[in-house]
This record gives sequence, structure tokens and C-alpha cells, in this order.
Amino acid sequence: MINLEIPKKFKPLASQANQVATEVFRPISRKYDEAEHAYPKELDMLASLIDGMNEGSDIGGAGAAGVRREKSDDGSNRNGSNLSTVLGIIELCWGDVGLLLSMPRQGLGNSAIASVATEEQLERYGGKWAAMAITEPEAGSDSAAIRTTAELDGDEYVLNGEKIFVTSGDRADLIVVWATLDRSKGRAAIKSFIVERDNPGLKLDRLEHKLGIRASDTANFTLQDCRVPKEALLGSPEVNVKEGFAGAMQTFDNTRPLVAAMAVGVARASLEETRTRLAEAGVEVDYSTPALCQHAAAARFLEMEADYEAAWLLTLQAAWMADNGRPNSLQASMAKAKAGRTCVDVALGCVELCGSVGYGENELLEKWARDAKILDIFEGTQQIQLLIVARQLLGKSSAELR
Ligand SMILES: Cc1cc2nc3c(=O)[nH]c(=O)nc-3n(C[C@H](O)[C@H](O)[C@H](O)COP(=O)(O)OP(=O)(O)OC[C@H]3O[C@@H](n4cnc5c(N)ncnc54)[C@H](O)[C@@H]3O)c2cc1C
Repeated sequence: MINLEIPKKFKPLASQANQVATEVFRPISRKYDEAEHAYPKELDMLASLIDGMNEGSDIGGAGAAGVRREKSDDGSNRNGSNLSTVLGIIELCWGDVGLLLSMPRQGLGNSAIASVATEEQLERYGGKWAAMAITEPEAGSDSAAIRTTAELDGDEYVLNGEKIFVTSGDRADLIVVWATLDRSKGRAAIKSFIVERDNPGLKLDRLEHKLGIRASDTANFTLQDCRVPKEALLGSPEVNVKEGFAGAMQTFDNTRPLVAAMAVGVARASLEETRTRLAEAGVEVDYSTPALCQHAAAARFLEMEADYEAAWLLTLQAAWMADNGRPNSLQASMAKAKAGRTCVDVALGCVELCGSVGYGENELLEKWARDAKILDIFEGTQQIQLLIVARQLLGKSSAELR
């Protein structure tokens, strides 16, 4: 059973992350929403502080770099870096999700490295900022359709292809690129490679203009005869047809709970702001009276809060399972599906409840409603998560249920 209290050892971390969200993120939130593509320089000092916190800690930090699947030696249950990371992310995204995505050295590529890299690779690439490049013009939801190729040439792999929608692609030091060693061998041949951002074979094509998370840069690249050392392949170079996509997919088991945590943070921010606004308008939410007997706005608020709590609990569960080395693909997808959808519903529902106050640019509710949608799209859309859940529950393969 999960203890639903925040573990005592994580309370200081959650409280520090909340302080950062309140004192650093919120005050510059609107500024970098308006100044799309400008780097939030305030984050440099903050990132150094978080690095320092991580170095002195055995529980992982508030950012995404610390997630790793471990099992305790004595078989006991533990609350580890996945859970602490999720708790930190919830607080920071309560502040601003676009700024969290722009935090140096805390990219989803860092989580991918932490999830599957060897100790030697961790040593080599530790301390760098890594973005994640899976999506291509012809491969979005269906990541098995990836066309970027990686050919071994002596001691190097040569990468060729196109990658689009790479979060932090322009700002990160490293890009974790998914490519196939042999298209005829299907999904088992897809591996991830670390490409240094200044590699001459990696050409930035453009930065996207977006609906939300405008503080975060989203880059499109061409890889042309892009050479990387053999050691840049993450995990095993063997193409194990029996294992299929499992190796590459392992990353998602760690990263989906993190994106779910981002959604939980935005949903909580929207709910808290709305509770304040309702109170100002004389509407109190009463937990001792049935929702149906309350003001319609309070009843709607309670409905949204219940959804939020379900998303929060699923997210904690998925992270906790990763901390304890338990298979969590099902729970990671359930958490991502529930939190992504809830975040969008709650953010828009809060705009609705607050009326013109929620819609205006003077308030952050309007921004959160725009930021929310991406959390239901990237790292696997709502529909894809539901497909994964259905496959797992029905015991069907991806060929049987697509
Ligand atoms: C701001 C932003 C940042 C991003 N960051 C990254 C990043 O850092 N790295 C990266 O690799 N990618 C990133 N992405 C890409 C993102 O992961 C993809 O957009 C997402 O996976 C969906 O792919 P697609 O856009 O090609 O949509 P499609 O796959 O074309 O899907 C279109 C619609 O069809 C639905 N659909 C597709 N297949 C099925 C099915 N079998 N059953 C039911 N419905 C289905 C989808 O759910 C979706 O609603 C980012 C995207 C955005 C917008």
C-alpha cells in the first residue's frame, strides 16, 4: 500500500520547490510567455542551485535528471528519486510548466540517460543538459515508424534523418536521438544515440511558435552524415527481435509519470486560484455538505478537485513503482492519460468558473489553459495512453490492437 502522506524526508524538497515556484517562476511567468524564444536567464542561477541540492542529496532532486530504476537490497519498499522528482515537478509546475521545461540540465533527455545509460555513460554525460528527439514528420504517435538511420562506420555511427518538435533542442548541450540500425528488423532495431549539440552534422532548421509553454523552445533539426562515437549508443547495440521495443520503451516508464506530474502541478495551480476567486465572490467550497446541496460553482469545483486527486494519486503510484523496480508501464500510461486529460479539463473549467477574470491576460488562468494542452499531447497523446492501457488490460499486442 502507498502511504498517502508526503514522506517526511521529501517535505523539505517539496517546500523548496514551492518556494522557487512562488519567488522565481511566477513573477517571470507572463514575461517569457510574451517573449517567446528569449532564454529565461533567471534560470541559470536556479539550475546551479538545484545541481548543488542534488549533489548533496541521496534522494534525487526537484528536476528530471535523477530518475533511475532501482531495487532496495533487502526487498523492502522505498521512496526514491522517481517519487522525489515527481513531487518537485508538481511544485515547480504549479509555478510555471514552460519555465520548468527550460531548466538547464533537467530535460526529458536527462531522464532518458538516467533511465538506461551505463555507469560509464552517466559519468561522461552527467552534468549536461539533454533534450529528447523521437518525433519525425512521418513518426509521431507511432514511434516505431522512425526513419532516421544509424549506420556503423568503423568506430562511429553515422546518423541521417529529420527530427521535429524537440523540446529544449536549441538550448540543450546534448540531444538524445532515436534512430534505427536496420529498418528491415522493425522496432527492435530502434536505439537512442547521444549527439552533442555542436556536432556539425546536426543542423537547426527552425524554432516553433506555439499556443502554450512559450517559454520553452521547440526545435526542428536535420541530421546529415552526423557522426557520433560508438559509445554514444545508449544501452545495448544488440538488435534483439524477441525483446522488440521494450528497451526503448523503458524510458517512457520513467518519463511519463514526470509529464503526468507537470499536468498535476498546472491543475493544482488552476484550482487554487479559482478557490480564491470563488471565495472573493462569496462562494465557499464546503467539504461537509453534499456537492448537490451547494452553489453550482462549488459543486463543479468539487468535481474537478476529485479528478485532480485521482490524477495525483495515479502519478505518485507510477513513480513509486519505478522506485521499487516494479513493472509500471500500465500505471505510467494510466497516470499520463488521467493527468493530461484532467489538466486540460480543470484549466478550462477554472477559466469557465472565473468568467472574464479567467480569460484576461492580467491573470495566469488564461495562460495555464493554453499551457495545459501540450501535457495531453507530448510523451504520448491521451489516445495512445488509452491504447496502451487497453492492450495491457486485455493482454493484446500492438499488432492486435492498434
Ligand atoms: C510543444 C511540443 C513539444 C514536443 N516535444 C517533443 C520532444 O521533446 N521530443 C519529441 O520526440 N517529441 C516532442 N513532441 C512531439 C509529440 O510527442 C508528438 O506531437 C506526439 O507524440 C503526437 O504525434 P503527432 O503530432 O505526429 O500526432 P499524430 O501521431 O499524427 O496523431 C494525431 C492525432 O491522432 C491520434 N492518434 C494517432 N494514432 C492513433 C491511434 N492508433 N488510435 C487513436 N488515435 C490515434 C493522436 O492521439 C492525435 O490526437 C512535442 C510536440 C509539441 C507540440
